[in-house]
Amino acid sequence: MSYDVIVIGAGPAGEAAAYLGRELGASVAVVEKELAGGECPFWACMPSKTLLAAATRRAVGADYPWERASRRRDWMISREDTDYPSDAGHVAGLEGAGVRFVRGEARLVGAGKVEVRSKGNGPQTLEGANVIVAAGSAPVIPPIRGLDEAGYWTSREGTSLRELPSSIVVLGGGPVGVELAQVYARFGVKTVLVEGHDRILPRDHPRSSEVVTDQLRTEGIDVRTRVHATAVRTGGEGRILEMSDGGAVEGAELLVAVGRRAPDLRAMGLEEAGVELSERGTAGPDEQLRVGPGVFLAGDAAGGLMFTHVADYEGRVTVAAAMGHPAKADLGSVPRATFTDPEVGAVGLTVEEAQEQGIDAFEVSQDFASSARGFTLEPVRPSSGPILEGVPGHVTAVIDRGRGLLAGAFAACPGASDLIHEAVLAMKHSVPVAVLADAIHAFPTASRVFGGVMVEATKQLG
Ligand SMILES: Cc1cc2nc3c(=O)[nH]c(=O)nc-3n(C[C@H](O)[C@H](O)[C@H](O)COP(=O)(O)OP(=O)(O)OC[C@H]3O[C@@H](n4cnc5c(N)ncnc54)[C@H](O)[C@@H]3O)c2cc1C
Repeated sequence: MSYDVIVIGAGPAGEAAAYLGRELGASVAVVEKELAGGECPFWACMPSKTLLAAATRRAVGADYPWERASRRRDWMISREDTDYPSDAGHVAGLEGAGVRFVRGEARLVGAGKVEVRSKGNGPQTLEGANVIVAAGSAPVIPPIRGLDEAGYWTSREGTSLRELPSSIVVLGGGPVGVELAQVYARFGVKTVLVEGHDRILPRDHPRSSEVVTDQLRTEGIDVRTRVHATAVRTGGEGRILEMSDGGAVEGAELLVAVGRRAPDLRAMGLEEAGVELSERGTAGPDEQLRVGPGVFLAGDAAGGLMFTHVADYEGRVTVAAAMGHPAKADLGSVPRATFTDPEVGAVGLTVEEAQEQGIDAFEVSQDFASSARGFTLEPVRPSSGPILEGVPGHVTAVIDRGRGLLAGAFAACPGASDLIHEAVLAMKHSVPVAVLADAIHAFPTASRVFGGVMVEATKQLG
């Protein structure tokens, strides 16, 4: 019952920590209260990307009914013949690597002491020299009058639905809201997207927001921005959402996708394990993501950028640090991607953010529709839409003039989620813009558009 490392939560962060821990020779126990694998494979990344891919085939005219999309999504989340996904593959993987897998809800009850409660069994206590808290996040449910009574979906219902509603209101225009809105609309659901900020994807480059907004509107989605939900009631098509501009929108269902929050670290017992928490219940991690003696935070639970690739990275950093290796979290060039059609990719700072940080920065942008790659692709439009134009989009770079380096890169175009990695690598290793300009990019790719932006940036650097 005593381990080098105890991991709380078997999502991407916990799994990565457990596997690397075993490779480093650690004895590892993982406690999971629900599904090994966490949110990503069953309720989040994988089902949403599977449905988006199906929706894209349908949007370009393939005979692709919802039943087929739903069945493929069910296969993806290991739920073919059941109502609930199976995590047997994840558990077998962990156990095969020599990890002790414990099903139950974990809580720290002292330094290196983790109490596990599970249905039908009394509590058991595991002891560990190190504890990695990788307990994920939960959807934020805003305090809107009438919301609980009227009922709503979170992203779980939004990705696992088997029957399409006739209409839906999606509250929240971040990546989750826009991706799912596009899925529903492409399968013929009347869709309204409501965002309080002045644009959807508010954390992305404004041109990316513009490109995706135009595409969603072309597909018939009613995109409302700068409006807040003030109340919800049943009626009309099912649920009526009243808004701050005095208007109201209706849907048979209401999906709440306004963000996610890290777990309550106080309730998880971190103070009892010697971790100092702020009044708000947050902990300040060091560069190894250690928040107290032998206690680490990884993934969504750490409260930073909530992505699977960040969770995986942090899981590996924390377990390496726990095992005495000089691991250090470098989160300076984390890619961000939204898998709408067209995709959105981003890394680093916008020109405004860079200038706020005192960087002498400028921006270079290339319209995608008038690039060679853009010309070759036909925009995804209703069949009556124009065909004699390129796919809309942009590739934009933010340049640190003083250092001749990239400070950020942004793209909205087919392939943007892959394209962005050239910039990730360049930022991580301080590759000069002039070197990127000199690199040969294959014709006609989105990457070549980025190469052209680098050539222009080099000219402007003089
Ligand atoms: C709809 C949607 C789509 C997304 N798409 C993408 C995408 O395309 N790409 C991307 O990078 N990210 C995406 N994300 C984000 C991604 O899913 C998360 O960032 C990722 O799952 C975080 O991994 P994690 O290990 O930190 O947490 P989780 O995956 O949430 O896993 C945490 C685990 O801890 C367990 N747990 C919690 N408390 C306890 C406890 N006390 N005891 C025992 N177990 C506990 C939970 O049951 C859970 O299994 C998406 C999110 C959503 C909602």
